[in-house]
Amino acid sequence: MPRESYNPPDFTLEDLYGMIPQMQCIDGCTDCCRRFGVPSRTPLEDARIRAYLEARGRKVLQASGTTCPYLSDQGCTIYPVRPFTCRLFGTSPNYRCPHGARPLELLHEDLEAEIFARYQDFFSHRA
Ligand code: SF4
Ligand code: SF4
Repeated sequence: MPRESYNPPDFTLEDLYGMIPQMQCIDGCTDCCRRFGVPSRTPLEDARIRAYLEARGRKVLQASGTTCPYLSDQGCTIYPVRPFTCRLFGTSPNYRCPHGARPLELLHEDLEAEIFARYQDFFSHRA
Protein backbone atom coordinates (compact mmCIF):
# COMPACT_ATOMS: atom_id res chain seq x y z
CA MET A 1 0.00 0.00 0.00
CA PRO A 2 1.53 3.37 -0.97
CA ARG A 3 2.48 5.67 1.87
CA GLU A 4 0.22 8.62 2.27
CA SER A 5 1.96 11.72 1.01
CA TYR A 6 2.70 14.27 3.67
CA ASN A 7 1.21 17.71 3.18
CA PRO A 8 2.93 20.38 5.21
CA PRO A 9 0.70 23.12 6.57
CA ASP A 10 -0.02 25.84 4.01
CA PHE A 11 0.45 28.20 6.89
CA THR A 12 3.84 29.40 8.10
CA LEU A 13 4.94 29.93 11.66
CA GLU A 14 5.14 33.64 10.90
CA ASP A 15 1.49 33.53 9.79
CA LEU A 16 0.62 31.86 13.08
CA TYR A 17 2.62 34.32 15.15
CA GLY A 18 0.93 37.14 13.23
CA MET A 19 -2.45 36.04 14.63
CA ILE A 20 -1.28 36.76 18.21
CA PRO A 21 -1.79 40.30 19.48
CA GLN A 22 1.17 42.32 20.72
CA MET A 23 1.58 42.12 24.51
CA GLN A 24 1.95 45.33 26.47
CA CYS A 25 4.31 44.01 29.16
CA ILE A 26 5.41 45.88 32.24
CA ASP A 27 8.79 47.47 31.48
CA GLY A 28 11.64 45.23 32.63
CA CYS A 29 9.37 42.39 33.78
CA THR A 30 10.58 38.86 32.97
CA ASP A 31 8.56 36.94 35.55
CA CYS A 32 6.98 34.47 33.15
CA CYS A 33 10.44 33.63 31.75
CA ARG A 34 11.44 32.64 35.28
CA ARG A 35 8.56 30.27 35.88
CA PHE A 36 8.36 27.68 33.16
CA GLY A 37 11.88 26.54 32.21
CA VAL A 38 12.38 26.25 28.45
CA PRO A 39 8.95 26.79 26.90
CA SER A 40 7.44 23.99 24.81
CA ARG A 41 8.40 24.13 21.15
CA THR A 42 7.55 22.47 17.88
CA PRO A 43 10.37 20.81 15.86
CA LEU A 44 10.31 23.77 13.46
CA GLU A 45 10.75 26.22 16.30
CA ASP A 46 13.59 24.13 17.69
CA ALA A 47 15.29 24.26 14.29
CA ARG A 48 14.85 28.03 14.08
CA ILE A 49 16.30 28.53 17.55
CA ARG A 50 19.24 26.22 16.76
CA ALA A 51 19.99 28.05 13.50
CA TYR A 52 19.74 31.42 15.24
CA LEU A 53 22.17 30.33 17.96
CA GLU A 54 24.63 28.64 15.59
CA ALA A 55 24.75 31.74 13.38
CA ARG A 56 25.93 33.62 16.45
CA GLY A 57 28.38 30.99 17.69
CA ARG A 58 26.08 30.11 20.56
CA LYS A 59 24.85 26.77 21.86
CA VAL A 60 21.46 25.27 22.58
CA LEU A 61 20.91 25.45 26.35
CA GLN A 62 19.03 23.24 28.80
CA ALA A 63 16.96 24.61 31.64
CA SER A 64 17.98 23.94 35.18
CA GLY A 65 15.27 25.01 37.55
CA THR A 66 12.35 27.07 36.38
CA THR A 67 14.17 29.95 34.69
CA CYS A 68 14.45 29.81 30.91
CA PRO A 69 18.15 29.48 30.00
CA TYR A 70 17.74 32.10 27.26
CA LEU A 71 16.83 34.81 29.73
CA SER A 72 19.56 37.35 30.52
CA ASP A 73 19.60 40.53 32.58
CA GLN A 74 18.79 42.35 29.35
CA GLY A 75 15.80 40.10 28.59
CA CYS A 76 15.25 37.32 26.08
CA THR A 77 18.42 36.49 24.12
CA ILE A 78 16.53 34.67 21.36
CA TYR A 79 13.73 37.20 21.07
CA PRO A 80 13.34 37.15 17.24
CA VAL A 81 12.85 33.35 17.31
CA ARG A 82 11.15 32.95 20.69
CA PRO A 83 8.57 30.18 20.49
CA PHE A 84 4.81 30.33 20.22
CA THR A 85 4.24 29.83 23.95
CA CYS A 86 6.23 32.96 24.80
CA ARG A 87 4.28 34.98 22.25
CA LEU A 88 0.87 33.76 23.38
CA PHE A 89 1.35 34.11 27.13
CA GLY A 90 -0.76 36.94 28.52
CA THR A 91 -2.69 37.54 25.31
CA SER A 92 -5.75 35.37 25.94
CA PRO A 93 -8.32 34.80 28.71
CA ASN A 94 -6.79 31.35 29.35
CA TYR A 95 -3.19 32.58 29.62
CA ARG A 96 -3.41 35.72 31.64
CA CYS A 97 -0.39 37.55 32.94
CA PRO A 98 -0.19 37.30 36.76
CA HIS A 99 0.42 41.06 36.88
CA GLY A 100 -2.57 41.95 34.73
CA ALA A 101 -0.55 43.02 31.67
CA ARG A 102 -2.32 42.32 28.38
CA PRO A 103 -2.48 43.38 24.77
CA LEU A 104 -4.72 46.28 23.80
CA GLU A 105 -7.34 43.64 23.02
CA LEU A 106 -7.31 40.12 24.49
CA LEU A 107 -7.72 37.25 22.04
CA HIS A 108 -11.28 35.99 21.78
CA GLU A 109 -11.51 32.35 22.96
CA ASP A 110 -12.69 31.22 19.51
CA LEU A 111 -9.66 32.75 17.85
CA GLU A 112 -7.41 31.29 20.55
CA ALA A 113 -8.88 27.84 19.80
CA GLU A 114 -8.21 28.32 16.08
CA ILE A 115 -4.64 29.40 16.78
CA PHE A 116 -4.08 26.31 18.96
CA ALA A 117 -5.55 24.01 16.31
CA ARG A 118 -3.14 25.46 13.75
CA TYR A 119 -0.26 25.27 16.22
CA GLN A 120 -0.88 21.54 16.71
CA ASP A 121 -0.24 21.04 12.97
CA PHE A 122 3.31 22.23 13.43
CA PHE A 123 4.20 19.44 15.88
CA SER A 124 4.29 16.96 12.98
CA HIS A 125 6.03 19.37 10.63
CA ARG A 126 9.83 19.07 10.63
CA ALA A 127 12.35 21.45 9.19
S1 SF4 B 1 3.49 38.61 30.45
FE1 SF4 B 1 3.35 39.49 32.48
S2 SF4 B 1 4.76 38.25 33.72
FE2 SF4 B 1 5.30 37.94 31.56
S3 SF4 B 1 6.89 39.47 31.12
FE3 SF4 B 1 4.90 40.35 30.52
S4 SF4 B 1 4.27 41.54 32.31
FE4 SF4 B 1 5.85 40.11 33.01
S1 SF4 C 1 12.54 32.05 25.11
FE1 SF4 C 1 12.75 34.19 25.68
S2 SF4 C 1 10.65 34.94 25.97
FE2 SF4 C 1 10.59 32.70 26.01
S3 SF4 C 1 10.74 32.12 28.18
FE3 SF4 C 1 12.82 32.12 27.32
S4 SF4 C 1 13.63 34.15 27.74
FE4 SF4 C 1 11.41 34.27 27.98
